[in-house]
Amino acid sequence: MFERHLEQQPDGRVTVMLSGIIDESADLDQLLGDLEGDLAIDLSGIVRINSVGIDRWVTAIAQLSSTRRITVEAVPYSIGMQANYVTNFFARAEVLSCLAPYVCPTCETSRPMLVHRDEVALRAPVRWCTGCKGELTFDEFEGYFDFLMRTRG
Ligand SMILES: [Zn+2]
Repeated sequence: MFERHLEQQPDGRVTVMLSGIIDESADLDQLLGDLEGDLAIDLSGIVRINSVGIDRWVTAIAQLSSTRRITVEAVPYSIGMQANYVTNFFARAEVLSCLAPYVCPTCETSRPMLVHRDEVALRAPVRWCTGCKGELTFDEFEGYFDFLMRTRG
């Protein structure tokens, strides 16, 4: 299941919220083809992507970002991992933020946290557990944020 949901922003821009699984049944051209102007794409609802899905995504985003400004927000872990291996994953789109993999050592729970690219310097930014208020541990190698920094304009 792959869906989109549109949200009109106060400034008139449209945010496209994508959710579900990007695979051979995900028709990206149909889901994105009718949208005009600059777009913000929110990927927080994407559960996973497979190799066919990656091909489709790369083709679609290259096309979209060739003629207009596309920003991508809240890239989930499943996408971030792939984006680090596929250099043109976001083409000319600008990635603004991701849902980074943090864990709470006390609650023993994973706590994905929204991280804006401006917060990433040499280390992952500090985040606090929503349950126990303790400091979270970043659960990846520091190079994880490469995909976020690569498209910085
Ligand atoms: Zn906790």
